[in-house]
Amino acid sequence: MNDSLTHTVLIDEPAIARTLDGLKRENDPVLLREVLAKARELKGLDMDDVSVLMSVTDTDLLEELFSAARCVKESIYGPRIVLFAPLYISNLCENECLYCAFRAGNRDIHRRALSQEEIAREVQFIIDQGHKRVLLVSGEGYPGEGFSYILRSIETVYATRSGKGEIRRVNVNIAPLSLDEFKQLKASGIGTYQLFQETYHRQTYAYMHPGGRKRNFDLRITAFDRAMQAGIDDVGVGVLFGLYDWRFEILALLQHVGHLERKFGVGPHTISVPRLEPAAGSRVAASPPHPVSDGDFMKIVAILRMAVPYTGMIMSTRETPRIRRATFALGISQISAGSRTNPGGYSEGIDEQDAQFQLGDHRPLDEVIRDLAQMGYIPSFCTACYRLGRTGNDFMELARPGDIKYRCDPNALSTFLEYLLDYASPETAQAGEELIRVHLDRMDDRQRKVASGMLKRVRAGHRDVYI
Ligand code: SAM
Ligand code: SF4
Repeated sequence: MNDSLTHTVLIDEPAIARTLDGLKRENDPVLLREVLAKARELKGLDMDDVSVLMSVTDTDLLEELFSAARCVKESIYGPRIVLFAPLYISNLCENECLYCAFRAGNRDIHRRALSQEEIAREVQFIIDQGHKRVLLVSGEGYPGEGFSYILRSIETVYATRSGKGEIRRVNVNIAPLSLDEFKQLKASGIGTYQLFQETYHRQTYAYMHPGGRKRNFDLRITAFDRAMQAGIDDVGVGVLFGLYDWRFEILALLQHVGHLERKFGVGPHTISVPRLEPAAGSRVAASPPHPVSDGDFMKIVAILRMAVPYTGMIMSTRETPRIRRATFALGISQISAGSRTNPGGYSEGIDEQDAQFQLGDHRPLDEVIRDLAQMGYIPSFCTACYRLGRTGNDFMELARPGDIKYRCDPNALSTFLEYLLDYASPETAQAGEELIRVHLDRMDDRQRKVASGMLKRVRAGHRDVYI
């Protein structure tokens, strides 16, 4: 057994319990303002700081908390929101996660693993919407060829072309792998390896995962150690909110982040915040044991933004347009749009019965883009950092001094203009062009010069223009 499997990442439950006890000091304005001042320095927060934030319930104090989160979000990420589409390639699964429609025991679902031809067709549909990034997702049960099915599928995604478009970054959300498999995954050219612990609470984890390989909490929590040892330095963590007390989950997540930072010198690239949604044949999903209210959900996003300021945050189409809009300013930097969560869903249409869970946002990409533009956000299809090797620590180095705005804003504008010229409806193109004008006006001279030059090249017919 290799090193990372024998040294389980310790989630210190007693330490979390002690911190949660401290929550009894609710709504202390002096303490809160101290923590918010620290958050505004963009250096992150420790567990005690976070417990102060979690204890806030007073409306005025909550507004102060949200305002500090907005400030952190704006200083590091500016007005950009990065877009991607999930690509479900298979709903075969050997596990029994009680909350998921794909669990092995659910006999009411039609099982399929897409062939490479079917994957290419899905990808063409995704490209034709205007996407440049996909998140490849699969149940844990691959057809005959085993793990190499995933590798072949990634190859297919990168090789597929449609019109002027192609997918430039493939992230994956698949079950934990061995060190050797992670090395093969790295060699396939993935961007981020994403995996959600679901719950960091061992007892709840054991209850929610009664069968299959996923029963093994330790195999899952050590997956990033193996991924990072294999050279994958962009990893994405997450919790499935609704399974256990969200306060516990946040503190445990921070312990996991701290572990990766100590061991590898770099934390996760992204944090996802999925909330339990109804799923075919799942009682747990229909009635979550620890439901998270909309108000608490916004608090979760704001707290994570301040606690780990340089880690991107992802919001999927599980959430409704209203919740998505409300969380952009508080901390979300990446969203999915125009999603289907049933294999074959892009080319063959949504099949609610075969989907992993119900969607909250059904709008097509064009409508989401127009909405973002009208709210003043720059929808970004940028994939520059990863393709220039700015991942892991290199990305953090770039992000820290705020230098990112000289690259990210121009890259966001040039990829956004590509979208407007190649895919947008007339209304979206109009809203988008107006947004580009406004942002160019707001830039300093250096930034504007760079961005204008890049936009000129895109208008002249160049594609994939980035710095
Ligand atoms: N099968 C792999 C696994 O479980 O890690 C990867 C893909 S799984 C399809 C992706 C994620 O979907 C899971 O990690 C889980 O957090 C989420 N999920 C499952 N059921 C859900 C539900 N009912 N509502 C919201 N998210 C759900
Ligand atoms: Fe399978 Fe993943 Fe669903 Fe669990 S969450 S049943 S492992 S697809």
